[in-house]
Amino acid sequence: MKKISVIIPMYYEQDVAEECYSRLSNTLKNIPGYEYELICINDGSKDKTLEILEQIAYQDEKVKVISFSRNFGHQAAVTAGLQYVTGDAIVIIDADLQDPPELIPEMLKFWEDGYEVIYGKRKSRAGESPFKLLSAKMFYRTLNALSDVEIPKDTGDFRLIDRKVVDTINLMPEHNKFLRGLISWVGYKQMPFEYERKERFAGKTKYPLRKMLKLAGDGIISFSNKPLKLVGGLGILSIFVSFCLLIYAIVSYIFKLNDLSAGWTSLMIGITFFAGVQLLSLWVLSEYIGRIYDETKQRPQYIVDKKINL
Ligand code: UDP
Ligand code: MG
Repeated sequence: MKKISVIIPMYYEQDVAEECYSRLSNTLKNIPGYEYELICINDGSKDKTLEILEQIAYQDEKVKVISFSRNFGHQAAVTAGLQYVTGDAIVIIDADLQDPPELIPEMLKFWEDGYEVIYGKRKSRAGESPFKLLSAKMFYRTLNALSDVEIPKDTGDFRLIDRKVVDTINLMPEHNKFLRGLISWVGYKQMPFEYERKERFAGKTKYPLRKMLKLAGDGIISFSNKPLKLVGGLGILSIFVSFCLLIYAIVSYIFKLNDLSAGWTSLMIGITFFAGVQLLSLWVLSEYIGRIYDETKQRPQYIVDKKINL
């Protein structure tokens, strides 16, 4: 019998854990011809998430729990899930029920038809702030403008993927993963699956601005070198501007057009502007170097504190 595995990362999700479990298992047990497992990752929550998961797992051995020693982040949680799944078709879903579990049977049909990645594409997004909608839109457009691989717009990590894809992803030891990008990068037969993204069932978003910016940085930096080339472009541009100013100064001096000796304002503007350009360029470099440093340390991407039913 074929098996479906579902990966559910959870961070402070005590208000949704039970509902998430019951909606997922009600959906999955009614799919004929398949067995299933739910892999819940407690990403270092300090509320009752783990307690609730433990209770569920003791009653239902299809529920497997991995609990991290601290918060390692959503992408690390999904990465851990991918390393422990045993199914043939693997679903990645958020715990907050924004991605309806009831869509899994439809996605599975496409998998049976031979698609290897069926990625959720948000037709609409209920209950998100205008800021989140705008920033997400800008991010996906920027990412695609910069990146060499086509990364589908308006997608999240909600998707159904084939075992083959999971095995390929598991071979990649990189830190600071941007999984939705990696999954499109690996190729195979992919298709979008449009759906309406619902409001959070309960609780608040676990993606504050800081985490969103980190994810956006990981996305851009792991899929593009163009920011580095832009730094070079900026350098050439500023040399060109200074060369034009030099010619202007010489011409003014020779033909006595303007007296350029009293130049405090223009000097200050020039100095602060180019100091800004240089620091900005250093920042771009440091984002890359910081990530190279993360790779060289070769620390694990997460630490498992506890496993249940595994
Ligand atoms: N999440 C996680 N670790 C984190 C942040 C989030 O495991 O550090 C989980 C969270 O519990 C949820 C999923 O990632 O299942 C998506 O988070 P959330 O719904 O808060 O993000 P949003 O939908 O607001 O972008
Ligand atoms: Mg959510």
